[in-house]
Amino acid sequence: MHGLGECQSGDPRPAAQVAREVVDRRDAHRAIAVSAAGLGVAGLIELAIAALGGSVGLLSDALHNLADVSTSLVVFLGLRVSRRPASASHPFGWERAEDVAGLGVALAIWVSAAFAAYLSVHKLFIHGTTTDVGWGIVAAAVGVLGNQVVARYKLRVGRRIQSATLVADAQHSWLDALSSAGAMIGLIGVAVGWSWADAVAGLLVTGFICHVGYEVTSELVRHLMDAVEPRVIEAAAAAAAGVDGVEHVHVRARWMGRTLLVEVDGYVTRATTVAAAEVTGRAVEAAVRDAVPEARAVRFSVRPFD
Ligand SMILES: [Zn+2]
Repeated sequence: MHGLGECQSGDPRPAAQVAREVVDRRDAHRAIAVSAAGLGVAGLIELAIAALGGSVGLLSDALHNLADVSTSLVVFLGLRVSRRPASASHPFGWERAEDVAGLGVALAIWVSAAFAAYLSVHKLFIHGTTTDVGWGIVAAAVGVLGNQVVARYKLRVGRRIQSATLVADAQHSWLDALSSAGAMIGLIGVAVGWSWADAVAGLLVTGFICHVGYEVTSELVRHLMDAVEPRVIEAAAAAAAGVDGVEHVHVRARWMGRTLLVEVDGYVTRATTVAAAEVTGRAVEAAVRDAVPEARAVRFSVRPFD
C-alpha cells in the first residue's frame, strides 16, 4: 500500500517552461498583493471619512473595496495552506483550505451588503445629514484613482504573462472605479443641495457589493459541488480514446482547490499483459495532460473490454 503522491505521474513538461510558469505566477501574485494593499489603504481612508461625515455612499464603497481585498487575502491564505503536505489524517492534502476560508468571506460580504443597504434606506427615510462633504469627495476620488491605477497595473501584468484571471481582475477593478465614482457623484449632489443624493448613491453602491457577493458565492458553490466545464471531460476522453490499445474510456474530473483531478477508466482487451497495460496507462496520462493543460493529476485504471 502506498499514498496518493506516489501513484501520480511526475510533471513531464520541459524544465524551461516550468521555470517560466514559476516566474509568471510570482509576478501575478505580486500584482495581486500590491493591488490589494493599495485598495486596502483606499478603503480604510474612505471608511474613516465616512465615519466622520456620515456618508453612506462612501461607507458602502469602503465596504466594497475592503470586501475585494479580503477575497484576495483568501486566495493567498489558500495558497499557503494548500502547500502543506498530505498526512495520515489528510491524505488528499489541504487543497480545500481556500474554499473553507471563502465561506467566511462570502458571509462577511453579504453581512456588509445588508448593513450598507439598511443604513442607506434608513438615511433616505429619515433625511439624515451628511457633513464634511469636501473631505468625502476627496476620499471617493482616492477610491476612483486607486481602482484605476490598480486596473491598469493588473491589465499590464496580465497581458504580459497571458493570465486571463488577472485581466478579468483588471476589468473588475475598472468597474470598481465606477462604484467609487457613484459615491462621489452622490456627495457632489449633497454639495449642490440634494440631501437625498448620498442615500441613493449608498443604495447603488450596495448593488456593487451584492455583485461581488454573488460572484464569490457562485464560484464557491461550484467548487464545493465539484463542478467542472464539460469541455474538460470531452477533451480528456477524446485524448485517452486516441491512445493505441485503448478500446473504450470513461472519464470523470473534479476540482480539489486549485488542482484538477482527472480519472480515466481505460478498457483494454483481456489478452493485454499487465506490462502493456502499464505502458498504455502512461501514454493515456501524457495524452490527457496535453489535451487538458490544467490537469494536475491524471489517474488511470485498467478495465477489461468484452
Ligand atoms: Zn469590486
